[in-house]
Amino acid sequence: MLATNGIPTAEELAPRIPPAERLKKGPVAVIECFQKIPCNPCYTACRVGAIEKFEDINDLPKIDFEKCTGCGLCISKCPGLAIFVVDETYSESEATVSMPFEFLPLPEEGQEVDLLDRSGAVVGRGKVVKVRKGKYEDRTPIVTVTVPKHLSMVVRNIRVGGGKK
Ligand code: SF4
Ligand code: SF4
Repeated sequence: MLATNGIPTAEELAPRIPPAERLKKGPVAVIECFQKIPCNPCYTACRVGAIEKFEDINDLPKIDFEKCTGCGLCISKCPGLAIFVVDETYSESEATVSMPFEFLPLPEEGQEVDLLDRSGAVVGRGKVVKVRKGKYEDRTPIVTVTVPKHLSMVVRNIRVGGGKK
């Protein structure tokens, strides 16, 4: 069960986190979907079959991390805003996190933003390296930000503007 505040526990998250060896190979999706609802656009969005076919529409998605290319096509198709792509190979000290972002204004590429954890707490500052809002992102734009590598599984939102006080 998710905690009543909607934030998954460490135990719930553990099976969703790709193995360290996979993270060393490049970008990969982290699917933080925990509620059994009739929904499967993540499966239909994936062109390489990384998300297993749902036996039942209420199933939770199961991902094959080795098949996942980290393309991010599934991010904007998820109505639950539950999919992120993490790239721990971005640089020596930084990873990137790509996330759905539904607020306006959208940040600009190169802009510094506050990095937020799942509870909305500010955990640092990062730089926007990509904003995808093209034809394929018809539902939700995707923002990619740099994060300190040790926060790659912590940062799950951003706040445009702000700055450390
Ligand atoms: S990131 Fe791309 S390859 Fe990975 S599960 Fe999503 S759509 Fe499939
Ligand atoms: S599209 Fe999103 S909410 Fe729906 S099953 Fe897939 S991950 Fe869960």
